Amino acid sequence: MKKTKMKKISDNINIRALKFLYGLCPGYFRMTVFNAFIGTLLPYFDIFMSAEIISELSGNRNPKRTLILIIITLAGNLLIGVFRELTSRFANILSRKFDDSESAAFNDKTLSLDYSDLEEPNVRQLRRKIIESAWIDNHGKGLLMSDFFRLVGYFSDVIMAFIFCLGMVISVIINCFNPMTTLLLILFIAATAAGVMYQKTAMDKLSDLWNSASRNMIEENRISGEMNDYNLGKDIRLYNLADFYERVGKKIIRDNRASFTKLQNKRFLVDIPTDVISLVKNCALYLLVSLCAIRGTFGAGSVIKYVSAVQRLSDAVTMIIYYLNDIRSNTPFVEDYMRYFDLPRKMYQGSLPIEKRAFCDDGDYDYKIEFRDVSFKYPGCEEYALRHLNLTFKIGERLAVVGRNGSGKTTFIKLLCRLYDPTEGRILLNGIDISKYDYDEYMRVFTVVFQDFRLFSFRLSENVAAGLEIDEKYCEKCLEEVGFGDKLEELPEGINTYLYKNFDKNGIEISGGEAQKIALARALYKNAPFIILDEPTAALDPISEAAIYEQFNGIVGNKTAVYISHRLASCRFCDEIAVFDGGKIVEMGTHEGLIAQGGKYRELWDAQAGYYQKSENR
Ligand code: ADP
Repeated sequence: MKKTKMKKISDNINIRALKFLYGLCPGYFRMTVFNAFIGTLLPYFDIFMSAEIISELSGNRNPKRTLILIIITLAGNLLIGVFRELTSRFANILSRKFDDSESAAFNDKTLSLDYSDLEEPNVRQLRRKIIESAWIDNHGKGLLMSDFFRLVGYFSDVIMAFIFCLGMVISVIINCFNPMTTLLLILFIAATAAGVMYQKTAMDKLSDLWNSASRNMIEENRISGEMNDYNLGKDIRLYNLADFYERVGKKIIRDNRASFTKLQNKRFLVDIPTDVISLVKNCALYLLVSLCAIRGTFGAGSVIKYVSAVQRLSDAVTMIIYYLNDIRSNTPFVEDYMRYFDLPRKMYQGSLPIEKRAFCDDGDYDYKIEFRDVSFKYPGCEEYALRHLNLTFKIGERLAVVGRNGSGKTTFIKLLCRLYDPTEGRILLNGIDISKYDYDEYMRVFTVVFQDFRLFSFRLSENVAAGLEIDEKYCEKCLEEVGFGDKLEELPEGINTYLYKNFDKNGIEISGGEAQKIALARALYKNAPFIILDEPTAALDPISEAAIYEQFNGIVGNKTAVYISHRLASCRFCDEIAVFDGGKIVEMGTHEGLIAQGGKYRELWDAQAGYYQKSENR
């Protein structure tokens, strides 16, 4: 009962996955199925025509008819062959279209996920599993599709062979019915059925071994991927991890080889009974057909026709069992794949438009953000990352968010940008809950440069414009404003120079400081009314960070800027400083006011002051 239910679920998921994949590029599916069908037509045409020619040669020996049969055979081969080649070419071209649509659908899904899901370890693991399983024999959707296309081919094989064999069985029953032929016929049918059943049981036994071998291969690929990862290269060398990687890698390779040897040995044992059953089946078939031929029921041509058709039928049935089983072993991977696409968006999707105060020429940028008693826990965490946050800031203000690492500064920004919804309380933009706004429109109000910002291996201009339409002049202006002007002049292709060498061998390598400047230029380019710098300069020394923050403050104009840092000196120029501690705002005020207050800010300031004095004296 349980097994039937399980089977139903796996069948459904494979069918659902096939329907989904078909929807991505129906033309590819239709063409490949058609090609598989044409592929099976040719051998049967040949079997049929060869039988006709042999019958003619062993019978009437009419030269004209023989010649016509030969010409039909050659012409038919040419025609079906060309047709098969053409459909295969089209299917190949369409397969690229399918790959593009599929990877676009996968990426769209990732981009449309709630950020909380994207950060969620289970979701990250699921995504990684899907990508990694594809490395091994294309497990997942790739294997499902190739098995499906093969099955289409073998099913059409079975239909064709069955039509041929039916003729043979009817002939035997009508013309050659005696105890011996009946016995041989029964023996042949029984051996075929036994072969199918044995094959199915053997495949079930092998599938566990195959799955464990696949998992080992995934591990092997992962470790070799890490060893070749450009970004890890530095750390591997610096921390002398080469030995460690080699040791771990060797162990995984050893396990991998062991599981494959086990699989091969088992397969060998499984193959022996299969061969014996096949031998019995073939003996019965040859004896049956020969007996009928001796009695004159079949001519020489029919012997060839029936033997070939029966062989193909039994091979096709064996292969159908094999591929159905392959689909079954692959089902968990398909389930992972569909589970990813089934992930729901849990966050409320608002539809209100944002007032376009900033985007028109005479925009007044009049936006007000309010955190009203906001508390937040990360999904799956017991502890609150933020507690009872109350804060209002208006456009044009410079807000600093300071506090020790782990005090909740970045979480505050994630809530502000609606990457997460508050667990309690509300965040309002111009008096309206931010969840009510259309998400894409809401995001246009902000530009954030996070500490772990990423630049892409594209042109400099594409990095600055970040997918928006590229205004080259404005791009250059933004780069100059953040102090990248001198470097820009040195670049061989100006803003069209590629970053890194992944796509262009003339691409440039940039320093950490230069990368930060480009990230800041990208923030300026977006021209959003709120600019948030979440310690993108953390890798710099405190004095350089303070200089960049002050310089940036000069160029943000009438926009609102939120500066985040655990270094108090970087933000002392701000109108308002919110001091975070343990997920709460413990103090608020100007630098001078907070120093005079003698509380947490003062304590942190005094603790960090020694460092600034040392740096300033240098
Ligand atoms: P800060 O930016 O001040 O260094 P964060 O806002 O990053 O601090 O972190 C605040 C608290 O939330 C910390 O205790 C941190 O461990 C926790 N935290 C941050 N990100 C996550 C996350 N994705 N999942 C669970 N806890 C997190």
